[in-house]
Amino acid sequence: MIQIQKRNKDSKRGHLFNKGSFSAVLLNGRASERRSRRQLHVKSILSLTEKVLFPDTCPFCEQVSETIPCENCRKIMEELLIKSPRCYKCGKPIRYKEQEYCSDCKKQNHVYDRGIALWLHKSPLSDALYRMKYHNRRCYAPVIGERMAKGLHKWIEEVNPDVLLPVPLHRKRRRLRGYNQAELLACSIGNVLNLPVDTSILRRVKYTNPQKKLDPIRRQKNLQEAFAAGRVSKELKDYRKRTSARMYHAVLIIDDIYTTGNTIDAVATELRKMGVERIYFMTASIGQGY
Ligand SMILES: [Zn+2]
Ligand SMILES: [Zn+2]
Repeated sequence: MIQIQKRNKDSKRGHLFNKGSFSAVLLNGRASERRSRRQLHVKSILSLTEKVLFPDTCPFCEQVSETIPCENCRKIMEELLIKSPRCYKCGKPIRYKEQEYCSDCKKQNHVYDRGIALWLHKSPLSDALYRMKYHNRRCYAPVIGERMAKGLHKWIEEVNPDVLLPVPLHRKRRRLRGYNQAELLACSIGNVLNLPVDTSILRRVKYTNPQKKLDPIRRQKNLQEAFAAGRVSKELKDYRKRTSARMYHAVLIIDDIYTTGNTIDAVATELRKMGVERIYFMTASIGQGY
């Protein structure tokens, strides 16, 4: 910064008092233009090399592709999009509008208010989500998150959340995995829709076994008291300043997959204790509701 200012001062002097210096300034200008062109050239060579070494691959089929997703997967993903009628509670696709609720939500009361997912949990999406979570494909999160934001923005506007809340990982699991996929999705959604993401007000305090290996009753037990209040985040402080409320009025929980709803309910239970009134969730995928 200091160097730039010094050069400007010198150029001014050269322009006013000395023709020789002025042409030197011009030459300097041309030299810097040449330099920046050279830098651009180096940059494009680097990005080309990067493309050759690490070409863009479609997150859904892992094939090298010019477009992300590839043309074939784009069509399949279009077919996996969930359309109405949806369950009024969890958003799973149902057969008839008159049903209102899916078979699961008819049997079980949920702590959260309502939720939605963008796609049906089927291949190739289910494979991509698996790789994003367990095979370090964190680079899929912006692709998937952006589609969630753009595909569901009308619903999000309708529920009007104050903040996005990714389902937290236990710090031990986060350390092992290196990232929390729900957090990456939430950040990408927040970026697109200009919504704050709070990663601190909730903690996962119980190191639970992977849910998919357990039967429904064990799943529920496994998650009892798995979450606890965390610390007052910058986002909550900003919200308090803006609204003079102590706690968020409405939150949107973000996760990759919705299966039984036990995880979202466990998070929602803790949020209710903290005084959150309206609790919604949004996931990339969900199962069929009948
Ligand atoms: Zn593909
Ligand atoms: Zn349902």
